[in-house]
Amino acid sequence: MLASVHRIAREKGSGFGMETRETIRNFRERGILVDVRGHQLDPDKTGLVLVTCGDCDRTPENILFIRKVVDHSRLHELKLNGASLRIAKESPLNGEFPTDRILLEDIAESCMLKGIRVIALCGQYPCGKGASAGLGFKENLDLAVRGKMRIKAEVPLLMQEMMRRQGTLVPDLPVIKVAMFMHVDYEDRASTMRTYFVSRERWEAHHASTDGTATVFSPSLPPPEPTDNHDDTDIAV
Ligand SMILES: [Zn+2]
Repeated sequence: MLASVHRIAREKGSGFGMETRETIRNFRERGILVDVRGHQLDPDKTGLVLVTCGDCDRTPENILFIRKVVDHSRLHELKLNGASLRIAKESPLNGEFPTDRILLEDIAESCMLKGIRVIALCGQYPCGKGASAGLGFKENLDLAVRGKMRIKAEVPLLMQEMMRRQGTLVPDLPVIKVAMFMHVDYEDRASTMRTYFVSRERWEAHHASTDGTATVFSPSLPPPEPTDNHDDTDIAV
């Protein structure tokens, strides 16, 4: 099964070749993908709503890693094949079924039920679901970042609506934090896997077009000069 997923990915140009390896190296240099060391996603230790693919070969390793990073065991896991790719409005993976709406509702409900206000959206590459739509690494990352922004924009509104339905007075929109990870399986002989933080700010700067909007599946303009300022504060917000 795994071999066939990889075959499909290669045939669709979304496998893990030298070009993808070079892209990831480049994104790490630019601070788009950031090594995770000692970050504190959940300083209040209320827990984390973790949105991730259900991949049985990669997700367990990713979750183990996140448990170590968060230093807290209260993870509320929401799994769906290619989950991070299905939340963006532009996602090609939401054809017949509105999985974007289902995921957004579930995230909001989880935050409400468990009193959690920190969400971790975990992308994954390669991803069989993404490969089925021919998504390469950049498209995968772009859709996931768009998904993160949609969570930030819509989940507080959904939470507020849920509170209203419960008869709770809600003067302000709930405040949530959304962090994004990208789990990479390098598929080398050592089966090396790594999880990175994704800097939305750096990604959007990298892909900004002349009119200031980021576009899916379009060629990027020349990237900004890399800097050493890997400020964590733009990651977990
Ligand atoms: Zn996947």
